[in-house]
Amino acid sequence: MKKVGFIGLGNMGLPMANNILNAGIGVNAFDLSRDAMKKADELGMVTKSSALDVVENIDALITMLPNDTAVESIYLKEDLLEKISKNTIIIESSTINPEVSKKVSKKATEMNISILDAPVSGGVKGAELGTLTFIVGGNEADLEKATPLFKIMGDKTFYAGKAGSGQIAKLCNNMLLAIHMCGTAETIAMGVNNGLDPAILSEIMKSSSGGNWSLEKYNPFPGVMKEAPASNNYSGGFLNSLMLKDLNLAEELATQSKSNTPMGKLARELYKELNNQGFEELDFSSIQQNYLDK
Ligand code: NAD
Repeated sequence: MKKVGFIGLGNMGLPMANNILNAGIGVNAFDLSRDAMKKADELGMVTKSSALDVVENIDALITMLPNDTAVESIYLKEDLLEKISKNTIIIESSTINPEVSKKVSKKATEMNISILDAPVSGGVKGAELGTLTFIVGGNEADLEKATPLFKIMGDKTFYAGKAGSGQIAKLCNNMLLAIHMCGTAETIAMGVNNGLDPAILSEIMKSSSGGNWSLEKYNPFPGVMKEAPASNNYSGGFLNSLMLKDLNLAEELATQSKSNTPMGKLARELYKELNNQGFEELDFSSIQQNYLDK
């Protein structure tokens, strides 16, 4: 692999592209934001003036875009798929509606172009450290072509199934994450309201049948876990705005598939309220604040 095209150089995309560059692979880069392009240029990427220019002479194309509209505009409205070489593997890593993923994949596959949906887990820190988890959907035979890049940008790759499955698995995971974070915050608050020490209660639950990832790695109560965003004014981590985005996508998925998800709906309402209160930029464990006396 000699050259990769990268479109979408935001909080996630820029450090991911930079890890590829640091692994000795050239990067053609494009983003609508001038600021992002300036940063890419300073890091040594070859900045291009359009998405179409990015795909010239590349072995792989990675997109890391904010939403469905951006992904559709790149793959369905421009002539990018017409222009890209048939030997290029496309890795679409944005978190989007699985139906959009399937639509893009169908068009590419009909044109004999290999494409994987590969949303990630691990956040900005994981993007910087190259420790992301890729959750992949598409043709399993195409995984091999993308594996060297997954290994540079991450440390785990899961194959979830046919096109769109990566997105579906990612949304299932994030809906469960929101549900157990809300449950954890709610439970700790009840203990504290009844005179318990949040650290002792957390330790008891973590080692008992209530144990879960939020308690083990990401305690939402300030001061319990030194490294967690809760002990750092809920800065860093995974933003409430992004959690709400994923819960909205999960609800669309539930509606499309006629799945009964009352807990997912409730978590979405709780995160909607938190975002409406102006906390879009705080880490998602700040839901704890809505369970405590203000
Ligand atoms: P971001 O908003 O920081 O970056 C998105 C970038 O895409 C921006 O620089 C924007 O200018 C650019 N862009 C938008 N439309 C474009 C277009 N048509 N052509 C070229 N560039 C365009 O977002 P992010 O935090 O980097 O997230 C990217 C994706 O990764 C999202 O789908 C998000 O849900 C997902 N994700 C984010 C995190 C996280 O912690 N930030 C974690 C996991 C997954």
